[in-house]
Order: sequence, then structure tokens, then C-alpha cells
Amino acid sequence: MESAIIVRYCEIHLKGKNRGFFERLLKTNIEKGLKGIKHTFNPMHSRYLIEDFDEADYPLICERLHKIPGIHTFSRALVVSNDIKIITDAALSICEGKSGTFKVITNRADKTFSPNSVETSALIGGKILGKYGDNLKVAVKNPDFTVDIDIREDGKTFIYNQTERGISGMPVGSAGRGLLLISGGIDSPVAGYMTIKRGMKIDCIHFHSFPYTGEAAKEKVVTLTKKLGEYNCGVNLYVVPFTEIQEEIHKKCPEEYMITLMRRFMMRIAEKLAISLGDQAIITGESLGQVASQTIESITSSNSVVKMPVLRPVIAFDKLDIIDIANKIDTYETSILPYEDCCTVFLPKFPLIKPDLEKVIRNERQLDVDALIERAFSKIEKYEF
Ligand code: ATP
Ligand code: MG
Repeated sequence: MESAIIVRYCEIHLKGKNRGFFERLLKTNIEKGLKGIKHTFNPMHSRYLIEDFDEADYPLICERLHKIPGIHTFSRALVVSNDIKIITDAALSICEGKSGTFKVITNRADKTFSPNSVETSALIGGKILGKYGDNLKVAVKNPDFTVDIDIREDGKTFIYNQTERGISGMPVGSAGRGLLLISGGIDSPVAGYMTIKRGMKIDCIHFHSFPYTGEAAKEKVVTLTKKLGEYNCGVNLYVVPFTEIQEEIHKKCPEEYMITLMRRFMMRIAEKLAISLGDQAIITGESLGQVASQTIESITSSNSVVKMPVLRPVIAFDKLDIIDIANKIDTYETSILPYEDCCTVFLPKFPLIKPDLEKVIRNERQLDVDALIERAFSKIEKYEF
């Protein structure tokens, strides 16, 4: 018997004129996601159909579909002709080995097909009970599984009993572009994932303090970025040498201003890069009150040097909730690898918790901000994944 995968998207976003745009984008993203895997792919009445794939590739296709924002659910289906005898056999075959309660749901787009949908459900339900009645019972409310029979106008019927949840959200590219400040930590990859899931295509920027932070620390960020790239239809990472800026701050400013001033440099360089890339927002993994640099006073200080919107998707999340998502997207284990981050280099004993913006600006005057930014910017390295 032939098999297919039915892919569904959330109808809720599909109002009016946006519909075509949304559907075309999701189609393109799925095609990119399944690149290199043999299959055919076709739209089908508010859904997509993946067919002609090799059985052995099914797990890989599932894995890819689970990483495409905009996919609400998908189902593996048997495909047969619109013939009640053949449909019944297929329904019986997918119930083999199952136990618990079930319900048959028939949807008959082909109105010439006889019997009608209610009769088809009753007939096939009866056959299933006849064959597997020892293990299966009908439950109209809350069955353990459903047997879905979708009789279509083009002469094909789809039969399936398993529907997997996708990650939902919006197709990547439907909500503009943003630049994620990615550290090697737990929070920023999660912030990136959440933004991607809402349809924003991201680029990544990382500040690296060689030789204080080594190759392993950079590799860790590369691994995290690649993982995000799987949701983002590929991703570019921009690595900024940050050592000179840190050394200058260390030399010329009071120790407790280190993190506060560093943040302002990061934001300025991020905005400059974002503008040059056509990105419309900066994204960070800041979470309110988590550490000294994430009080509202610290955020005010770093925010005040940029004009671009700064998105902070995990601002109100508890650490444990962030970790749940990090586990789900498989970044957690990488994030907790114990390599130095540029923020742990020159870490003051007592960082400012509530920096006073006027004093911050006064201290920053000791530095040639523009020249430092120019030099770091000219040495940015780009990696494409
Ligand atoms: P994370 O878990 O993402 O590292 P964090 O809780 O450790 O976050 P901070 O170290 O205060 O918090 O960093 C706050 C945010 O600043 C990070 O989420 C990230 O967006 C950005 N950031 C910090 N360090 C870097 C870096 N080396 N390169 C790029 N962005 C950074
Ligand atoms: Mg960190």
C-alpha cells in the first residue's frame, strides 16, 4: 500500500490577503527542510502532501518536519483508492497490534462516494471490532486513538491513526529579520529559537575574547548556532573580536563598570551590524533580575545606546522554564559545557547592580568608543551554516 504524510498548518493566522504569502513561504521552507531526501511535495486544500519517499527516510523526514515553524501537525497516512472494501482493509491494517479505545472519523469530500460518512464510520468501526474486539473498544469521547478516513474528490482516500504535533508558530521569513546576541549560555539560544518560531529569520553575533576565551568556547557557540540554523533555514554567525575593548575598559575605567560598559559596546556593535545586514531588531537572552547585568537599571543603560527595537523573548521566564525549552531544542547539554565566556573574563568582584546612567556615561568618556567599535567591526569573521 502507498503511504503519504499529510502536513497541516495553523489556520488561525491565515486571514485575508496574508494567506497566499504564508502558504508560499511555508512551502518553500518545507522544501528547503527536506532537501536531499527523495520525495514529492504538493499542496492539497490547506495542507501539504509528502509522497514517494523511501520508507527508510521516514524517521529523518519526521525529524525535519519537527523543526519547521508554521507546521501545526502531521500524519502518516495510507493512500488507497475510493473503494469501501480496500479502505476497510487499510483501516484494519493500521489497527493491528493496538489496544485500548478508538473512534472512526470519516470525512467525505467525494459526495458521490457511498456509503455516506456516518455509515462508513459505523461499518469500518464494526469490522475493526469484529477482528480486534478482544483488545479494542469504541469510545466516542476521548478515545485513545482515532482512525481517520479522508475520502477525497480525486479518487484517493487517506487513512491514518496518528497525528504528531509540529512546533507551530509562523513560517520563518514571515516576520522580518533580527540579529541574535548569542553567548555560550543557556538563555540566548532559547531566545533565538522563540523568535525564529514566531517567523523572524535570524542572524547571530558572538563576542569572542581570544586568548582569554579559547577555540573550545567558540566551537560551543558554533554548535549552538548550527542547532538554531535547523529551525531557521540556515544561519550566518558573525564573530566579533572583543579583547581590545575589554582590555581598554579594564585599563581606563573603574572595575565595577566592566560589565555595564561591555554591554553598551555589544549593543552598539550589534546595531551597526544589524543595519548593514538589513536586520530590523536585536534579540538578547536577558531575563529580568537573573544576574547583576539584568536589572532594569542595567537594561536601561545598555538599551540607551541603540535605536533599534531590542527583543527579549525570555525576559519574564524563570530559569527552569528556559531550561525546559533548551532541553526541547537540544541546546542545554552544549550550553552547560564549562568554557569561559567573555563575560567571565575581567569579572569584577562587585559589579554594579543598579548603574546610574550619568555616571556610566561619564566613565565611558575615558574611552575612544568610535575607534574601538570601528576596529572590532573591521575584524568581524563570518561563518555560514
Ligand atoms: P546566556 O545564558 O544567554 O549567556 P546569561 O543569563 O548568562 O545569558 P548574561 O551573561 O548577562 O546573561 O548575558 C545576557 C545576554 O547578553 C545574553 O543572553 C546574550 O544575548 C548577550 N551576550 C552575553 N555574552 C555574549 C557574548 N559573548 N556574545 C554575544 N552575546 C552575548
Ligand atoms: Mg551568559
